[in-house]
Amino acid sequence: MTMHGMVHPQRSRLLSDLGVPHGITTRTTVLPDDGDVSFVTAPASARANRQAWWRALGLPLERTVCAQQVHGNAIACVDERDAGRGAWCYEEAISGVDGLIVTAPGIPVAVFCADCLPILLYAPQRPIAAAIHAGWRGTTQGVVVRALEMLMTRYTVQPRDLVAVLGPAIGSCCYAVGEEVITAWRALGLANWEAAVEWQDGHWRFDLRQAAQLVLQAYGVPAEQIECVGGCTACHPDLWFSHRRPVGHEGRFAAVIMIPTMTE
Ligand SMILES: [Zn+2]
Repeated sequence: MTMHGMVHPQRSRLLSDLGVPHGITTRTTVLPDDGDVSFVTAPASARANRQAWWRALGLPLERTVCAQQVHGNAIACVDERDAGRGAWCYEEAISGVDGLIVTAPGIPVAVFCADCLPILLYAPQRPIAAAIHAGWRGTTQGVVVRALEMLMTRYTVQPRDLVAVLGPAIGSCCYAVGEEVITAWRALGLANWEAAVEWQDGHWRFDLRQAAQLVLQAYGVPAEQIECVGGCTACHPDLWFSHRRPVGHEGRFAAVIMIPTMTE
C-alpha cells in the first residue's frame, strides 16, 4: 500500500463505467490546509496537495489544464499546446474562462470550487470532455448553455450522447439569495426556471444543481445520463470547502476529467 491510499477522491458511477479517468477532491485532515488544491487559497501547500490528489486520481498533474475562473460564461477549447497550463502555478492557467473543453486524450481539465457547482461532461462517441465552474453568476450568464452550444456547433456533439456529472455545491438548503439572482436566472429564458428557485421564510433560495439539470435537459441530455455526486458543501464542512459557510481553512476542491489514452 502506497502513501496515496490516504486520500479518497469521489467518483461518478457513469464515468467510471465508461472508463473515463476523473474525480472530485474533498476536504481531508491528512493533508496540509485540509487538502486544499488552490494556489489562491493555499499558496504554500497547493502543489504538494495536488500531487497527492492527482496520484490518487491516477491523472497526470503535469499535463492538467486549469483556468483562472472569473464567474463568467466564457469557455476555452484546449489542446496539446495547453497541456500543463496552470498545473503548477495560477499565473499560467488560462485566463478569463470558467469552462474547459478538451478533445485530445491524456490532457486532464480541472475546475476549482467552494460552493460553486463543478460540472464534468463527457461524450463517449467523439470522445470529448469538459469541466465547468458554475456558480450563480456563471449559471445565470449561461456558462452551461455556452458549453453545450460549443460542443454542438464546433464539435457536432449531440446532447443526447452526453454524460453529465454534477459535483458537490451549496444546496438550496443553505443558499438564500437576493432578488438579482432570481431575476438573472429567469432572464436566461428557460421555460421551467421556477423549478430551481424557492421562496422560504422571506428569502429566495437558489438550487445550482437543479438549475444545471434544467439547462442540460432543456438541451436534450437525458435525465438518466445526469449524475449528482456529493452533497451540499455548506452542510458538510468535513467533506468540502464552503465559501458561504467557512469552517477552519477556506479552500477549494477540484473536479477533474480526462479523455482516456488508447493504451490504458
Ligand atoms: Zn446545505
